[in-house]
Amino acid sequence: MMGFTIALAGNPNCGKTTLFNKLTGASQRVGNWPGVTIDRKTGKIRGMTDAELVDTPGIYSLSPYSPEEVVTRNFLLEGNPDAVINIVDATNIERNLFLTLQILDTGIPTVVALNMMDTIEKEGGSVDAKALSEKLGCPVIPISALKSEGLKELVEAAATAANECARPAAIKFGDDIESLISETESALADKVPEEKRRWYAVKLAEKDATVSEQFPEIAESLKEKSAAVEESYGDEMDSVISDARYEIIGGLVSGSVKRAEKDEKDGTLSDRIDRIVTHRIAGIPIFIGVLGAVFLGIIGFGDITGIGTYLTDWLNGYIEDPIGTSVEQWCADNNVSEPLTGLIMSAFIGGVGAVIGFLPQMLVLFLALCILEDIGYMARAAFVMDRVFRFFGLSGKSFIPILVGTGCGVPGIMATRTIESDRDRRITAMSVTFMPCGAKLPIIALIAGALFGNNGFVALFAYVLGIVVILMSGIILKKWRSLAGEPAPFIMELPPYHLPSVLNVIKGTLDRGWAFVKKAGTIILLASVFVWFLASYDPSFNYLGADATTDSILQTIGQAVCVIFQPLGWADHWELTVGTVTGLIAKENLVGTLGTLFSLDEVGDAGEEYWDILAAYLTPAAGMAFLVFNLLCAPCFAAIGAMHRELGTWKATGMAVAYQCCIAYMVASIIYVIGSLIWGTSAEISGIVIAILSVAALVYLLVAKDPFLIMDKIGKKEEAVAE
Ligand code: GDP
Ligand code: MG
Repeated sequence: MMGFTIALAGNPNCGKTTLFNKLTGASQRVGNWPGVTIDRKTGKIRGMTDAELVDTPGIYSLSPYSPEEVVTRNFLLEGNPDAVINIVDATNIERNLFLTLQILDTGIPTVVALNMMDTIEKEGGSVDAKALSEKLGCPVIPISALKSEGLKELVEAAATAANECARPAAIKFGDDIESLISETESALADKVPEEKRRWYAVKLAEKDATVSEQFPEIAESLKEKSAAVEESYGDEMDSVISDARYEIIGGLVSGSVKRAEKDEKDGTLSDRIDRIVTHRIAGIPIFIGVLGAVFLGIIGFGDITGIGTYLTDWLNGYIEDPIGTSVEQWCADNNVSEPLTGLIMSAFIGGVGAVIGFLPQMLVLFLALCILEDIGYMARAAFVMDRVFRFFGLSGKSFIPILVGTGCGVPGIMATRTIESDRDRRITAMSVTFMPCGAKLPIIALIAGALFGNNGFVALFAYVLGIVVILMSGIILKKWRSLAGEPAPFIMELPPYHLPSVLNVIKGTLDRGWAFVKKAGTIILLASVFVWFLASYDPSFNYLGADATTDSILQTIGQAVCVIFQPLGWADHWELTVGTVTGLIAKENLVGTLGTLFSLDEVGDAGEEYWDILAAYLTPAAGMAFLVFNLLCAPCFAAIGAMHRELGTWKATGMAVAYQCCIAYMVASIIYVIGSLIWGTSAEISGIVIAILSVAALVYLLVAKDPFLIMDKIGKKEEAVAE
């Protein structure tokens, strides 16, 4: 027997990955949340030497909305699978068959796997697979992926279909539509292989955008005839055809599907819970309550330490002592040179250690979120928030990453993975770090303590500012060419509630934690080594000794570039610029760096020792501008690395960082001038000029319909020149 490839295709959340894992023995992530599989995965079917199985992202239709749906469509059409297993969620059979009909059109040998039969049976319903199979013209195998029932029969049927190349017969629409299709099929005769012709013809009749672009003349020649059909149905072609599909589905289902007797008035328990948690008004406070509880439990509040904070404090302490102290001792005992000791202590223990210290916090947070996700609550939360966020051009699913980002930007950015639409995912990944993360809290405490008598409103201001800038970015970024378009339609359906699966939850938690550790071991280490070098050597490369930052290369650079912060009111003090740079390693570094630069031996968490120095250096307005710039500008290297993972290229990551720095600069200059007015202090002239320009620019970006048009034109010119 020759080797063959079998594709798995189906709606989101119908059990594809569960089946894939069962058949291949792999352990891909399964989530009770549509959109978990965002790439194709390939594996060998167990017990068969030459059969390859390809898991694809879930789709509702072969006219895709979002990039990962394109992955599936392209694989089915161009990947030449020998057969496709179309998984149908039997509890939602009508909507799932909508895709099935389109798959049958592709002419690929198809086997329908009727999944979730355990649920159907439990509820007392039934599906006559044999009758359905006769009507569909392809094998229909009842299975339960979860309980491993019917899998052997399924694999056999798929192998037979692939071997015999059993192409399904088309299921025909009414005569008027069919005559349009068959005419198109003849026009496609020398362009598309015979077995796929019907699929392309139907898509052309539907006026599918991608296929119409592929065959513009045929699409053009169809216009007149389809106008006649549209006239007679009084509807657009795509609706005419989808109505026709649902009519066919009605015929398929009647007589072969028997539904469980449900209490019509109250619905299932799941329905009743949903009526409360997704309620238009009550849904939002419930959501805030659930997440509030999670966050209080993990991060803590006031004098109460949350479990995550507790563990992180412990690990941070442990890394410092005994690990740090014994490494230092070991270096001393073994005559390790001073610079090398400095490198090890500051880059490994200080830089990477500080980041690893956050790991327990993150693991506990991931664990809680994975549980909420697995029981099915996260899908409801996204549904509730969608109404609010859509107004600003973001989708409801953006809310979770932003929330996670208040703990740490890295997992926040990684949590954007669950957003299906590429556009929403990118915009969210670029905005998450505007929210103050845990590591920015010391900076807030520093400014609040030094300049505002520890006023709690400084912290509140930081969070409100974060949200405002995120919502603003939603409006601005969606106007960017490569991010254009409406937020993806929210067609995610609500998955059933169930008890969390221990394996799923643990795997999900460890996967995300491991990704973070890898990052800490690579990019953060490199960046830490680099900054250590700049801070420990003078411009003629003489080693300055541990903890010396004066006379260093960093100071030289700081003195040279600090002039750009003149409009923000803190250019006269290069130490602040250097602190901003070292904050890129980890934001809380800023407080320690300033301590070193002010030649202090001991510096507390919020830099209490030098509050008076800062108060002498900065007006309150300049202090606010300093704080705002550091909150909003490029995040730490770890978060930049995470952005790179989600955005895909360094170019896109660079653009994102540039965007963040520009916004930070603009907002900080505005705050500086407003603050100077409020507190009646003098402001730099350059600051006033920049602030006025910034207000104009922000208003323009928010109001103009196509503010990036000029940039696009420049981009096009560059491309033309390059050619
Ligand atoms: P995918 O999005 O299509 O890849 O779906 P997943 O494999 O991630 O599964 C979605 C959800 O359906 C998970 O919570 C699974 O545990 C659940 N599930 C999958 N197969 C079955 C089944 O046969 N019976 C039941 N009751 N649940 C299932
Ligand atoms: Mg999946």
